[in-house]
Amino acid sequence: MAIEESEANSFHWLMDMLESVEVGLVVLDLDFKVEVWNGFMENHSGITASKIQGQNLFDAFPDIPEAWLTRKVDAVALLNTKAFTSWEQRPYLFRFRNTRPITGTEKYMFQNLTISPLSGTNGQVEKVCLMVYDVTEFASSKMALERANEQLAKLSMTDRLTGLLNRGTWENLVDAEFERFRRYGHATSLVMFDIDHFKPVNDTHGHLAGDEVIKHTASVTRGAIRQTDSAGRYGGEEFGIILPETDAEGARIICERIRETIEKSVVNTSVASIRYTVSIGIAQLTAEPENYMQWMQKADEALYEAKESGRNRIVVG
Ligand code: GH3
Ligand code: MG
Ligand code: MG
Repeated sequence: MAIEESEANSFHWLMDMLESVEVGLVVLDLDFKVEVWNGFMENHSGITASKIQGQNLFDAFPDIPEAWLTRKVDAVALLNTKAFTSWEQRPYLFRFRNTRPITGTEKYMFQNLTISPLSGTNGQVEKVCLMVYDVTEFASSKMALERANEQLAKLSMTDRLTGLLNRGTWENLVDAEFERFRRYGHATSLVMFDIDHFKPVNDTHGHLAGDEVIKHTASVTRGAIRQTDSAGRYGGEEFGIILPETDAEGARIICERIRETIEKSVVNTSVASIRYTVSIGIAQLTAEPENYMQWMQKADEALYEAKESGRNRIVVG
């Protein structure tokens, strides 16, 4: 009698624990009829155990992907082994609103799910138990970290003022394009250009107005090139463009578009409306340069010639 009493007691405690544990527990028979629905499930679904017991899970929750869960449960029953799904594969099984105040940014609770087989006395799997873990806090901090990393990677590759590639990244691409040329020999051209008489712009209108002119130059450049071309901010008011699959004549057409657009533009800043021009040097790659730096030097020499011969012009080196 005493033994029976203590067994009854521990069964009671066990049930209390299952009721209050911070994990969702659901026992289903193999026709997906709900048999157990603990406190966690009641709290988050708003459906009491007495209401849902005996109901088909898919009738009660039409949002649940029926084919997917059926496949999982069938495999668990057939193989008599556990199955596990993480929030990264499927954010949630039960669409519960996220109630945690700290992670209020996520609309729904992210869940990990374990499905365990439950065998009868004859060893046959008769039911399965779903264990639903709330991993919202973990998921949202992991996603925030991933977003931050993505942003950092982007920031470290691009120039803050213009959004163009920064010097280091752009030079690496010039190097890569140089190696590609050595292997395949496709036509490819490099462009270097510089704003004309930029010092007086800064001196007359201030550094901030100067920055607006630099930004305008970047946006004209972006608008003139193709997706496969790469534009970078090489120095303060110096820019570079890699034009793969483009010979010097093709490059000249693109550069003429940039030169002319800039010549015709007026940059309206808060202090003045500014007109300006650029000088451009082009170097199509030949077998001659021994490394990418010599290729850049050729483009830079062409740019120097454009400056010397009067500015607002293009020179092919
Ligand atoms: P040139 O026609 O020969 O190119 O004459 P320039 O006056 O443009 O001479 P240079 O190309 O040497 O001008 C560089 C100037 O660019 C000097 C510097 O004050 C200015 N500068 C460099 N970086 C920035 C920047 O980020 N913002 C602004 N506003 N000015 C910059
Ligand atoms: Mg310069
Ligand atoms: Mg200049």
